[in-house]
Amino acid sequence: MAERRHSFYLLTPGPLTVADEVKQAMLHDHSPNAAPHSALTARVRRYLLELCNGTETHVCVPLQGSATYAIEAGFHTLVPRDGKLLVIQNGFYGLRLRTIAEGIGLPTAVLELPMLPLPTAADVEAALDRDPAITHIVVCHAETGTGILNPVDVIAEVARRNGKRLLVDAVASFGGVPLDAAALDLEALFVSPNKCLESVPGVGIAIVKQSALEAAEKRSPSLVLDLHDQWRFLEKTGWWRWTPPTHVMSALATACERHAREGQAARLARYRRNWRRLVDGLRARGLTTLLPDAVAAPLIVTVHDPDHPNYSFQAFYDALERRNIVIFPGRLTAAGTFRIGVMGDLVESDMEVILNAIDEAFAELGVPIGMAVDDESVVPAA
Ligand SMILES: *Cc1c(COP(=O)(O)O)cnc(C)c1O
Repeated sequence: MAERRHSFYLLTPGPLTVADEVKQAMLHDHSPNAAPHSALTARVRRYLLELCNGTETHVCVPLQGSATYAIEAGFHTLVPRDGKLLVIQNGFYGLRLRTIAEGIGLPTAVLELPMLPLPTAADVEAALDRDPAITHIVVCHAETGTGILNPVDVIAEVARRNGKRLLVDAVASFGGVPLDAAALDLEALFVSPNKCLESVPGVGIAIVKQSALEAAEKRSPSLVLDLHDQWRFLEKTGWWRWTPPTHVMSALATACERHAREGQAARLARYRRNWRRLVDGLRARGLTTLLPDAVAAPLIVTVHDPDHPNYSFQAFYDALERRNIVIFPGRLTAAGTFRIGVMGDLVESDMEVILNAIDEAFAELGVPIGMAVDDESVVPAA
């Protein structure tokens, strides 16, 4: 039986299972306006730029809040009111991007696509042709609502060809799946500390093309959600506007050191091994995944609910929670599924622990495992 490495497994797409070293970094109080905290913030900002090859072209702006706050601040700050934002929506987080844009009254166009096939250059070209007022495009990279990895490079090429500016919700993928901000000429990427960076929540991060941010002075109608003002203040003083999440930043600095020690490619390879082990294990039990493997981000597994009268998501969830394992329900855009994240301080042996707990939970519910499901993607139990 595999050893349990964590007393509590948080297998949601953030926050997630965090290493003790990261949590221990929060056991110190920092003065928010003293040199050590300013240096720590600068170190983190620099490291995140290095991760996306943005040190020459982009700036990193941390903002109090969760990643969604940084996205809304980015829309306010970067998309002028006489511009128009095209939202590519093929899942729950695409829908959220649309909700934010429409919620703040930004002129918005929506390219609504099914989950599959993946968006193509022709899809995006056609949407731009239909509406010449579009100036900006936003797309979600790893669409954690379904598990799809959207082709940002293809969309960036269309954006460049048509003189449009591309913003990317890289919240779930950043630190795992590489994105080159300079090569793709991204206007902005939005980043979370508590996904592939494996830190704790409490700060949203925008990585913005410097020339775009310089041109955005006083554009945001919000005082709090103003990336330009936050950036200028940080640059001028080394301080955050208002109370910074000092403990969260200490954790993130340590998480960045761990990330650098492991290396981005090795981290992604570890997630891929977790994902493979979990997908194979679930299929061996007769369960089926929402997605074919080729289009799935190796960050999260979306699984069809078993078709059995004794199954309910709530009962399954409760049975796992009693074992200190937390999973996530499916999203509106993928009803009848549950989701298991493989990001975090997790290795293959943890997947074994999780699969064992799933076996116990199904036994408790009276849902037989290895049941016949008529789906060709099922790999029969060996
Ligand atoms: C988690 C997530 C978000 C939201 O991040 P918050 O920190 O909860 O605001 C946005 N987009 C994607 C793709 C995500 O996975």
